[in-house]
Amino acid sequence: MDDNKCLRCGQCCFMPDSQGNLTSEPCRYLVFNDDGTTQCKIYEDRIGTRLNEKIVCGFRCDDRFNYENCPYNSGEKPTYSVNRKRVRRIFWRNT
Ligand code: SF4
Ligand code: SF4
Repeated sequence: MDDNKCLRCGQCCFMPDSQGNLTSEPCRYLVFNDDGTTQCKIYEDRIGTRLNEKIVCGFRCDDRFNYENCPYNSGEKPTYSVNRKRVRRIFWRNT
C-alpha cells in the first residue's frame, strides 16, 4: 500500500473486543504525538505481529471497517469514528 495518503489519525489501530466490535482501547504499539498525530512503534515489523490472543496486525486494505476521513476507505463497510474517548458508528456517509 502507498502510505503517503495516511493522515496518521490512528483510527485503524484501535482494538476490537472479543465479539469483533471496535473499542476505544488503542493497540499497545500506537504512539500518540503531541501534535495530534499517531505512529506505530513497530511500523517496519507490524504485519503479522500478534496484538492479543485473537488479533494479528494486518494490512489496512484487509480491515473490516472504514474510518472517518480515511483516504483508504473502500467498499461497503461500516464506517467508524474512533478515539481514546469513544467509538461512534457513522451512518450518514461512507467516508
Ligand atoms: S485510519 Fe486511515 S488515515 Fe487514519 S491512520 Fe489508519 S490508514 Fe491512516
Ligand atoms: S502494530 Fe498494527 S495495530 Fe498496532 S499500532 Fe502498529 S500498525 Fe497499528
